[in-house]
Amino acid sequence: MSEFEGKVVLITGGTRGIGRACAALFASEGAKVAICGRTPATAEAAAEELASETGGTVKGFGCDIADSDAVSGLITAVGEAYGPVGILVNNAGITRDGLLMRMKDGDWDAVIQANLTGIFYCCRAVARDMMKERWGRIINVSSIIGLRGQAGQTNYAAAKAGIVGFSKSLAQELASRNITVNVVAPGYIDTDMTGALSEAQREAIVERIPMKRTGSGDDIAASVRYFASHGAAYVTGAVLQVDGGLAM
Ligand code: NDP
Repeated sequence: MSEFEGKVVLITGGTRGIGRACAALFASEGAKVAICGRTPATAEAAAEELASETGGTVKGFGCDIADSDAVSGLITAVGEAYGPVGILVNNAGITRDGLLMRMKDGDWDAVIQANLTGIFYCCRAVARDMMKERWGRIINVSSIIGLRGQAGQTNYAAAKAGIVGFSKSLAQELASRNITVNVVAPGYIDTDMTGALSEAQREAIVERIPMKRTGSGDDIAASVRYFASHGAAYVTGAVLQVDGGLAM
């Protein structure tokens, strides 16, 4: 039996990409999985697909994690459906790229709000139950861009770097309650988010990756699974780069 059997796992932004791969992995190991996305119908349809693909338990919820009240509602709804969240995967994220001189206030605000403040809302909303249970696993998805920076992504890099400082601070606050907080920092992963790049841009990136290939959602899901597992019980405040060696 998998160690995740019956565990309640909430994955933000599990409708596609990396979050979907995480949802499929936990569902296939018997966890009770909740995913969310901004549109309820999309989240519900993705959950149904995941449940039939994996034979597992998956429910989809509409929630914009940039909205504090919506996040409170999500945690209540997941609690009513499954019980308290034990494993939280903060995966949802967006980009609004542009050079600083041309960046609109709205592009800055939207990225910080969804990619950083949303994680604060979600962690705060689950922390009380985890403290009561004296067990919890929080895995936050950052990016190597948050560690290395990238021209045209000041907003995204600031949010992703913020996740690292946030996670290390929260890890210290929650460690004595047996709750770990860790960060996965993906490199270049083939999803809708990176799908907008031209073939030439993609080839140029692959050339710079020591492993000479892009990553998949499954590559990231495996590292998220590690941080949620018994094997990582004594690991907190860590940042794991999963990037084929790109940001060494
Ligand atoms: P996708 O664009 O493929 O998927 C993003 C997911 O986030 C969707 O499920 C989307 O759901 C959800 N989402 C976006 N905004 C919100 C919101 N405000 N509230 C709730 N859900 C939201 O992205 P990836 O799978 O590529 O990325 C996942 C995470 O990994 C992100 O945090 C990203 O920054 C990070 N990452 C990705 C890399 C890559 O190369 N792909 C590299 C490094 C980090 P919906 O549209 O249904 O609302």
